[in-house]
Amino acid sequence: MSTTNTKTATDFDCDLLVIGAGSGGVRAGRFAAQRGARVIVVEGGALGGTCVNVGCIPKKLYSYAAHHGEQFEHARGFGWQAETPAFDWSVLKARRAAEITRLNGIYDGILKSAGATLVRGWASLVDAHTVAVHAVDGAAGSTPRHCTARHILLATGGRPQKVDGPGADWALSSDDMFDLDPFPRRLVVVGGGYIACEFASIFNGLGAQVTLVHRGPRLLRGFDHEVADFVTAEMRKKGITVHLQSTVADVRRAGDVQTLRLQHHAASGDGDRRADVEIEADAVLQATGRVARTEGLGLEALGITLNPNGTVPVDGHFQTVVPSVHAIGDLIGHLALTPVALAEAMVLVDRLFGDGTRPPIDYALVPTAVFTHPNIGTVGLSEEAARERGPVRIYRSDFKPLQHTLSGSNERTLMKIVVDDATDRVLGMHMVGADAGEVVQGFAVALQAGVTKAHLDRTIGVHPTGAEEFVTMREVTRR
Ligand code: FAD
Ligand code: NDP
Repeated sequence: MSTTNTKTATDFDCDLLVIGAGSGGVRAGRFAAQRGARVIVVEGGALGGTCVNVGCIPKKLYSYAAHHGEQFEHARGFGWQAETPAFDWSVLKARRAAEITRLNGIYDGILKSAGATLVRGWASLVDAHTVAVHAVDGAAGSTPRHCTARHILLATGGRPQKVDGPGADWALSSDDMFDLDPFPRRLVVVGGGYIACEFASIFNGLGAQVTLVHRGPRLLRGFDHEVADFVTAEMRKKGITVHLQSTVADVRRAGDVQTLRLQHHAASGDGDRRADVEIEADAVLQATGRVARTEGLGLEALGITLNPNGTVPVDGHFQTVVPSVHAIGDLIGHLALTPVALAEAMVLVDRLFGDGTRPPIDYALVPTAVFTHPNIGTVGLSEEAARERGPVRIYRSDFKPLQHTLSGSNERTLMKIVVDDATDRVLGMHMVGADAGEVVQGFAVALQAGVTKAHLDRTIGVHPTGAEEFVTMREVTRR
């Protein structure tokens, strides 16, 4: 490092070398190149990373496909007479694959048009300013290419966490679900987080018989309890079997069919231990969290010791203990969401190559959606988290959406506002219902601007919509 300290910018091959062309890496590479930096982006897999290839985008496309199933049913209530069309899984897979290939090309174009250089291969750190790029196919004997950089950005994301236990060898991860063949008639999903709930909803909507098995007493840890309970009830109404406080005790396999024995663990002392159940499955999805992708990066040798949960430690400026090495996105584990990785990239690049005036990220007010059926949209504090800070007023409403007065669906919508009783500030807004993410996005701006309940009361609704409920709730539900 002593020699590099005396180097000037032009002694390096580039100003910024980004490892990983996913959400954060591409945004950082493009932003830096547009600000005049000489940028190299190294990617060993498909351009666009998790979000584009095995995350947000294909997941949302499949979620749309799943919604269509019930929309054919709903249309009958509005006078449309037709046989329910058959679903062709192979058509959906092929059309998704074509769209993702198109997006891979767009990401390539984004980097090229910004002036960044894309290098294909797997990267590892050699020293504080040098990266080795290994051939993608790992060809034995091939010599890695070395690139030097003034700044190195680690944006290598995460990967599914496999947990050991019965049937682990046969279990699939979310990465495997997009091209599954054949379509699983009976799917078991293990886990109770974002991916478990979304994939359970999607495959249920596409026609699979879905059983969700979660070890905890409630799905979606960290979400507002009422929201989690409401969406669990809605998922059950749509036909998903949800086993809470349950684990997979045993799995037997005969041909392609797996027989799982589920063990139910009662809440402590309530004496409510249910009998074990046996279920058959054509596929088992383990959706038990994701871990940072650090293998092979050579971090330890540089003195970068991982956090206990495997993420890369950074300071408030996304800098690791090695001053020239930075990290963003799922790798640092602040919030594993694409818009967060993008925001982190922009804050970092602004500091390194811009005027450094971009404000820090407000992680507390990051809105998020879970694309269950129906969707969850949420921003700010849950009721439980807000109560820990002081007295609150809760406004809540659940109702049958107008559409479903004719559709025949028994789906309901939940809307909830958490207000700080002392200041009238809105601390959290939560929705379970159609397009909840679309609705909450706008209200996230209001929370960022410090909206009070009085502001919501003064706002005129858009009628007839579901969203208007957020500005028409007047009665306090509870304090
Ligand atoms: P990634 O996008 O994962 O990119 C990392 C890149 O680094 C990859 O392309 C990888 O190949 C590359 N790489 C890794 N190691 C090396 C190496 N040594 N050398 C070269 N390249 C390397 N977020 C949302 O906001 N909304 C959603 O709806 C949503 N849905 C999701 C659904 C699923 C099923 C999953 C798994 C995730 C979802 N996410 C969603 C999360 C989102 O995808 C991630 O937060 C986001 O992709 C993180 O971006 P990143 O840049 O940190 O990493
Ligand atoms: P999550 O952290 O959301 O959920 C993991 C789930 O697995 C939890 O229910 C957890 O239970 C359970 N679990 C963990 N370990 C075990 C184990 N050993 N045995 C049984 N169950 C276990 O992770 P996901 O994989 O669902 O998603 C990863 C991240 O990706 C999300 O947190 C989110 O940030 C992002 N994402 C975002 C999406 C979106 O924006 N719509 C969609 C998909 C992913 P417990 O609660 O008891 O710990």
